[in-house]
Amino acid sequence: MDAQSLNTNGVHWLHTASNRYPQLTKDIEVDVVVVGAGLCGASTAWHLSQSDLRVALVEARGVAHGATGRNAGFILQGTAERYNRAITQMGREKAKLIHHLSVENHRLMREWITTEGLDCEYRQNGSLQLASSAEEEQELVESADLLLEDGFAADLLFGEELGEPYLSAGFQTGIVLPEDGEIHPAKFVEGVVHRAQHNGVQVFTQTPVLNIESNTNVEIQTPNGIIRAHMAVLCTNANLPQLMPQYDNIIHPVRGQMLCTTPQEPLFTRPIYADHGFDYWRQKHDGRIVLGGWRNLDPETEVGYDETLHPDIQQSMTDFLQRFKGLEQVKIESRWSGIMGFSRDGLPLIGGVPGQDNLLVGAGFTGHGFGFAWLAGRSLSNLILDSEDDLAGVCTPQRFI
Ligand SMILES: Cc1cc2nc3c(=O)[nH]c(=O)nc-3n(C[C@H](O)[C@H](O)[C@H](O)COP(=O)(O)OP(=O)(O)OC[C@H]3O[C@@H](n4cnc5c(N)ncnc54)[C@H](O)[C@@H]3O)c2cc1C
Repeated sequence: MDAQSLNTNGVHWLHTASNRYPQLTKDIEVDVVVVGAGLCGASTAWHLSQSDLRVALVEARGVAHGATGRNAGFILQGTAERYNRAITQMGREKAKLIHHLSVENHRLMREWITTEGLDCEYRQNGSLQLASSAEEEQELVESADLLLEDGFAADLLFGEELGEPYLSAGFQTGIVLPEDGEIHPAKFVEGVVHRAQHNGVQVFTQTPVLNIESNTNVEIQTPNGIIRAHMAVLCTNANLPQLMPQYDNIIHPVRGQMLCTTPQEPLFTRPIYADHGFDYWRQKHDGRIVLGGWRNLDPETEVGYDETLHPDIQQSMTDFLQRFKGLEQVKIESRWSGIMGFSRDGLPLIGGVPGQDNLLVGAGFTGHGFGFAWLAGRSLSNLILDSEDDLAGVCTPQRFI
């Protein structure tokens, strides 16, 4: 497959997106300015909109046009590392706390969606992790045991229990995490921003922040206006180092490839991931299958800020889908890529910028934004309103000093 023959057809999630917000064209003054209207910035703005503070949300592109509107919409618990590896990496107590906070993040999102009555194709059928090798099968078993010991739900499935369509595609072992879910990422974030605006947040899109001056107050420079504020919250994900070079070797941009098929007969009932999370797919309500990953085929190319397609990876993704019975002739409707912000230790950075009292960051979700970013927005709002916060405690940017 060469780059020219790829049918891109844009980002599936953004086909129905509308951009209702103006550009900033004059100087304004607020209490807090939130930069970046992805999942984290939207959540921060909405949580702040519950206070009396004057808030602005400013976005370089459109709402959810960064990683948030380009992802797979899996709501998974924990970090990108499987639970057994998370424990090895950070110790049992910390891994357990972080895992618990991500389950809590999902619970709060679900509660919000229900209270607001937002149609964002949310459902909670659990997720399925598949083992792609004998070594991964060992890890699944170990992980399931540790999750159960620590009070989380996990169901191991072997052979016939796993059933079709997985057996005929060559899989033998899986683990279901029943608390996980899925969502239309752009509809969700658009709904959040819309409600924040309704509560008084001033929203500006197509308004890139060019420079930040922070002394006793903050001055945010954009092409056609300056925003003066007491505090700024930077929710710019992989782009954080471009505004704050001190994060250059702490957050780095990693690209993910995605595709979406035409509607198919029902085959997959929940989000699925295999090969240590490198491969993932799910079937939407309308029958379309959204599939992404495979970046381990060319990890050196799949980095940086360039949202282009990788023809060979896209071909491998298509070939993989065609292994499933009934999908041998599957048609691909759209293909796209997006940029994730990976942090050095796999945990997000949530909290104050060391040495700069009026700047906070919420970034580096390392491919698991739906695991933490809703709660991160609440944490950032809590920090501004002077409350203690568990997630910010464990994810403080101070840890890199
Ligand atoms: C292909 C792919 C698949 C993924 N799949 C999943 C998944 O299934 N589940 C999951 O949990 N996570 C997934 N992720 C990760 C998830 O999308 C992110 O963790 C999440 O969206 C991060 O949200 P965010 O708000 O931090 O970043 P973003 O959504 O990237 O938002 C940052 C925003 O800041 C804006 N911005 C940047 N610089 C500036 C500036 N100077 N001025 C103004 N605005 C600026 C950007 O335009 C952008 O809109 C995936 C990511 C990709 C790319």
